[in-house]
Amino acid sequence: MAHEAAATKKAVTMPTIELTDLTRAEIESALRDLGVEPYRAGQLFQWIYQRGVVDFASMTNLSQDVRRTLAEHFHISTLAIVRHDVSEDGTEKFLLSLRDGRHIESVFIPDLVRRAPDHCDRTSESGHSGSQTFCVSTQVGCAMGCTFCLTATMGLVRNLSPGEIVGQVRVLAAAVALGGKAFNIVLMGMGEPLHNYDQTMAALRILCDKKGCALPPRRITLSTVGLVPAIERLATEPLMPNLAISLHAASEDVRARLVPSARKYSITEILAACRRFPLKHRDRITFEYVLLAGINDSDAEARKLAKLLRGLRAKVNLIPLNPAAGIPFERPSDDRVNQFGRILAEHHVAVTVRKSRGRDIRAACGQLAIESGKKSPAQRLADAIE
Ligand code: SAH
Repeated sequence: MAHEAAATKKAVTMPTIELTDLTRAEIESALRDLGVEPYRAGQLFQWIYQRGVVDFASMTNLSQDVRRTLAEHFHISTLAIVRHDVSEDGTEKFLLSLRDGRHIESVFIPDLVRRAPDHCDRTSESGHSGSQTFCVSTQVGCAMGCTFCLTATMGLVRNLSPGEIVGQVRVLAAAVALGGKAFNIVLMGMGEPLHNYDQTMAALRILCDKKGCALPPRRITLSTVGLVPAIERLATEPLMPNLAISLHAASEDVRARLVPSARKYSITEILAACRRFPLKHRDRITFEYVLLAGINDSDAEARKLAKLLRGLRAKVNLIPLNPAAGIPFERPSDDRVNQFGRILAEHHVAVTVRKSRGRDIRAACGQLAIESGKKSPAQRLADAIE
C-alpha cells in the first residue's frame, strides 16, 4: 500500500502539462492555481518564443522556487529534425519528428525574386512580395482526400497540438538563415487547418502574442479546402489570418472529383461564405487552383472561374501539379498554364503562377513523410545522418 501511495504521489508531481500547448492566458491561469504570479507567463513566453530557451533552470529572472515549481508541473517539448534537404532553388524542406515518433513536414521558402509572367501581378503567394515564408503542417496526414495530394493517401493520423504547430516555426527559424528579417507563415503543409480548428487557432494566438513570436496576423495565411461552417466561425475571430481557399475547379462536378470533401459544400456555398468574410482594407482572398492536365485546365474552365469570382476581392494562385508517384494526374504544359492565367488576367482577375520549388528535394506535399514512413528504422537513421 505504502508503495502504491508513493507511486501515486510521484505520478501527481510528474511534469505532465506541455507548456508550449498553452496560450499566455492559459499559462496565467495555471500559474494562479499554483500560487505563482500570473505575469510570469509573459516571462516564460519571452524565454521560449523570443530567446529559444526551453530549460527552466536557465530562466534567470525567475526565482529558484518558481523554477522548481514550473519544472514540477510543466514540460517543454521541441520537435526533432529528422531530415533537412536544401533545394537548388534555396527551398529548405524539413522532416520533423513528434513526441510519439510520427513525422510531419515543414518547408522554408527563402526570399526569392519571383518572376511572374507579364500578365500576372507580382504579389507572392502569401500576399507579401519578396519575403521569406514558412509552410507549416496542422495535422499528421489529412482526412480531406484530395485525389491529387499525397498527404491524402495517409488518411488522417492525428491532429497536431498548438505546441507542435508553433514548434515547427521555432525549430525552422533556428535552423535557417532568416537574417533578422520578417517572415510569413502559410498553413499549407500537411493537413486541413479548419479540421483542427481549436488547436490551430491556439497556435495562431501564441504566434501573434506580443510576448510570443509577435507576428502580425496579416503575415499568416490559412489555406482551407473550404469547410463552410469553420470559415464562418473564423470570420468572427478577433485574430484573423489571411484566407486562402483551395478551389481547384469552377464546375461542381470537376471539384467533386478532385476534392471529395467538397461534396458537402458546393462552390456556390463556399464563395457565398467568402463574400461574407470580413476583409480588411485592400485585403483579398486567395484562391488556389492546382492545374491538372486535361481535367481543370481548359479555356472554358478559366472563363467560368473568372465569372464566378466577379465582384469578389480575390486573387488566383495557379499551381501546376507537383507530380509524384501515386498521383493519377499530369502537370499541364507551361503554355497551357500561361494561357489559363492569361484568360483570368483578361477578365481582370489578379493571378500569380506558383513556381514549382524544391522539386529536386521531393517537395510535393506529403512526399517526404510518406517515403520515410515506408522505410525501415535503420534506413531512416541512415538518411538522417547522411
Ligand atoms: N488542406 C489545406 C492546406 C494544405 S494543402 C488546403 O487544402 O488548402 C496546401 C495546398 O497544396 C492546397 O492548395 C493543395 O491543394 C495543394 N496541393 C496538394 N497536393 C499538391 C500537388 N501534388 N501539387 C500541387 N499542389 C498540391
